[in-house]
Amino acid sequence: MSKVLAQLLEELGSGRLRVVDLTQPLSPQTPLLPLPPQFNNTPAFKIWELSHYDERGPAWYWNGFETGEHTGTHFDAPIHWVSGKDLPDNSVDRISPRKFIGPACVIDISVEAARDPNYLLTPERIRRWEDEHGRIPVGAWVLLRTDWSKRKDPKDYINATENGPHTPGLTKESSALLAQERDVLGIGVETVGTDAGQAFTFDPPFPNHYLMHGSGKFGLASLCNLDQLPAAGAVVVAAPLKIVGGSGSPLRVFAVTP
Ligand code: MN
Repeated sequence: MSKVLAQLLEELGSGRLRVVDLTQPLSPQTPLLPLPPQFNNTPAFKIWELSHYDERGPAWYWNGFETGEHTGTHFDAPIHWVSGKDLPDNSVDRISPRKFIGPACVIDISVEAARDPNYLLTPERIRRWEDEHGRIPVGAWVLLRTDWSKRKDPKDYINATENGPHTPGLTKESSALLAQERDVLGIGVETVGTDAGQAFTFDPPFPNHYLMHGSGKFGLASLCNLDQLPAAGAVVVAAPLKIVGGSGSPLRVFAVTP
């Protein structure tokens, strides 16, 4: 075995490296992104029992399930957005698995988001992070810590009023900087989608989706436990299901961290 892999296993065994689960539980109660009613919305997760060590299957327990690709903690592929529809290898089944692993850069905007639920990450704030922790490397997952996953009541989590949801996100200048100048793998967020709650009113609408996926980058939504990661120094593994032609999928995301 390679020295590095042997050391990885040894440090996981000794606890010097820890695995942090960044995934929310997936159930019929999992909160969903609310789109205006003229659009199709993602279905809630649905699960039904096939057998439970009973006459339907005496020695085994198993379920069937049905889900939207963008339900719960999930991966957004470039084909998800119109700006990425013609890119090569843009669906989950065609993305190289090499791209499912990358270093995590955790930008903590939890204080700003607590003060203003519509707070948007600015390029200045990104550069301030880089002044402290170094330049965001090519192929990084940039994770936006907002502590939004600590909002356990779905009403507080979606935070909608009559004029739509109010949740933090990124300015389009930040998305452009990360996608084009830093060449990141993608953006991960604690909110229900990778754009701010009010991003349907922005120009272009949902600019983070537009710019990231138009540049062949990915998204991770509904993450949690970002407060357990260092600003830099962890590695994220985010491997979506291999749905043929899929635009995304629920997944188990975790980080390996000192
Ligand atoms: Mn999505």
